[in-house]
Amino acid sequence: MLARFVAPLALTFAASAALAQGPVPNTSPVRGRAEIRLTYLGNAGWEISDGKTNVLVDPFVTQFRSNREAKPGQVEPPPRPSLEEIVTPDAEGINAKIHRADYILVTHGHPDHALDAPYIARRTGAVIIGRETTANIARAYDVPESQLITVRGGEDYDFGAFSLRVIPSIHTALEHKHYFNGSMAGDAPRGLRAPLKFGNFVEGGSVAYLLRLAGHQVLIMGSMNYIEREMEGLRPDIALVGANAQRREIYEYAGRLMRALGYPPLVMPTHWDAYGWAPAQAQARAEAQRFADEVKAASPNTRVIIPKHFEPISVP
Ligand SMILES: [Zn+2]
Repeated sequence: MLARFVAPLALTFAASAALAQGPVPNTSPVRGRAEIRLTYLGNAGWEISDGKTNVLVDPFVTQFRSNREAKPGQVEPPPRPSLEEIVTPDAEGINAKIHRADYILVTHGHPDHALDAPYIARRTGAVIIGRETTANIARAYDVPESQLITVRGGEDYDFGAFSLRVIPSIHTALEHKHYFNGSMAGDAPRGLRAPLKFGNFVEGGSVAYLLRLAGHQVLIMGSMNYIEREMEGLRPDIALVGANAQRREIYEYAGRLMRALGYPPLVMPTHWDAYGWAPAQAQARAEAQRFADEVKAASPNTRVIIPKHFEPISVP
């Protein structure tokens, strides 16, 4: 597997800081900082590891199953399941890609964020962290209570090897801002039993996370929206920012965020990949590049890396 190494950011920016126009990112060296590896799993999914602790975010490897099931020459993606359709995680695909997990952070309960987590938790013993809807979805698959930590946003929890600030957030403004007129925004009740239907995977509120691991601070978003005042003052050195075209519903999406975060040195788009549907990848990547341009316009010294699926990116 190819590892792409990020150029020593601190050095690069220290050298160019005096000449730089516009905001200078916060690049002061952090004592005790060690390399972490971030691997894009598709959709809003990530594996973040310092070699000791493996944290997954919104794993949704199941999205790639549609490529296997496509008819020869099929260009159009398969239609979204109806609310009544039973959806199942792709065990075969997950087993091929996910080998270890200690924690699984879930940003919200939609199927492209929460479908795979219960299966992975049961297989690996990982602890799922998410809002109550995520916990209730996991309970439907018999994930034990000892592997469920429910959060609401506002927590700042110490786990020893890392710490995790849970950031209140809001969901992408789907349906051209009529998102709450639809049926995917409520809470999932207790008492659900697998197999679950597509319509059981409701949002249940959204959170973002600030993961502090190995001297790094990684901002993790799962959607194309945020509450600006909740981002104010955070100083991640790596920001995973929701980037698909739905961001255009939001006023000054990249600019307000970069400013609130103090112009982070490294941004990687997430939730940009057209649900893994192979024929649409070039177009999705072009949209992610437009997002990268918006970030660069707002924060010229920020480096943007558009991740490739399952290729670890090492950050020293
Ligand atoms: Zn969603």
